[in-house]
Amino acid sequence: MPELPEVETVRRTLNQLVAGKRIERVTVSLPRILQRPKEPSQFAELLVGRTIVSVERRGKFLRILLDGLVLVSHLRMEGRYGVYEQDEPVELHTHVRFHFEDGTELRYKDVRQFGTMHLFRSGEELELPPLNKLGLEPLDESFTLKAFKKVLAKRTTKIKPLLLNQEYVVGLGNIYVDEALFTAGIHPERPADSLKPAEWTKLYEAVRFTLSRAVEAGGSSIKSYVNGEGDMGRFQHELLVYGRKDEPCSKCGRCIEKLVVGGRGTHICTSCQPIPKSRLSVKLNGK
Ligand SMILES: [Zn+2]
Repeated sequence: MPELPEVETVRRTLNQLVAGKRIERVTVSLPRILQRPKEPSQFAELLVGRTIVSVERRGKFLRILLDGLVLVSHLRMEGRYGVYEQDEPVELHTHVRFHFEDGTELRYKDVRQFGTMHLFRSGEELELPPLNKLGLEPLDESFTLKAFKKVLAKRTTKIKPLLLNQEYVVGLGNIYVDEALFTAGIHPERPADSLKPAEWTKLYEAVRFTLSRAVEAGGSSIKSYVNGEGDMGRFQHELLVYGRKDEPCSKCGRCIEKLVVGGRGTHICTSCQPIPKSRLSVKLNGK
């Protein structure tokens, strides 16, 4: 599933490709993608004659700003956008086509069909689902160490599932949570309230560092992710633990291990991300 760096890469590419284009017609071949309004003719009618102003992002959602409306789009597992000339053959699994007045088309393709599109009046999208309950935006200047600690530090649950929860911090998925926790040297099963102040600082910096490095590299190409122009991201070559089970840790040389935390495959180095000794002994004595 694309995470913040991949969606941000799609956003930047799309913004260059479609900003300023006026929609002449919309074709929907898979109505299930549409969540608001659900009726394809109504969806199309609202969009016809509108010009795309810019493409923005909130968490893992794209916000396509038009004059008066906002199209909120989630790619889920395998959704992809591409811009084509109208006479180019339409690929399989193309479900929504935005035909522009200049003879080009924005096409949405989704093999797994899990993607969603919601249409709102400008400004309304932030007050209603699916964007209204989203947490801190980690590459925004509002994401401070103080704000980060405020939403997470008192919680007693494991740190990894907390970081994955989009209601607290947005954009982090399985790949970047594993990378950030490794970079910060924190075991994914540590309860959030057990982290010391220095560890919060390390984790905060690791989240920002990991995400911004990945955005610079155009995201990671895991399985089928490609950006709006069909290019592959390069960050998968820079991943430190994710997908590196049994390979040596880049810091200490010990084998990367894979375990399951909160139902998700999790990559760690047990020597660089130790469970604190005090907790271990409590656990052992408790047996
Ligand atoms: Zn290590």
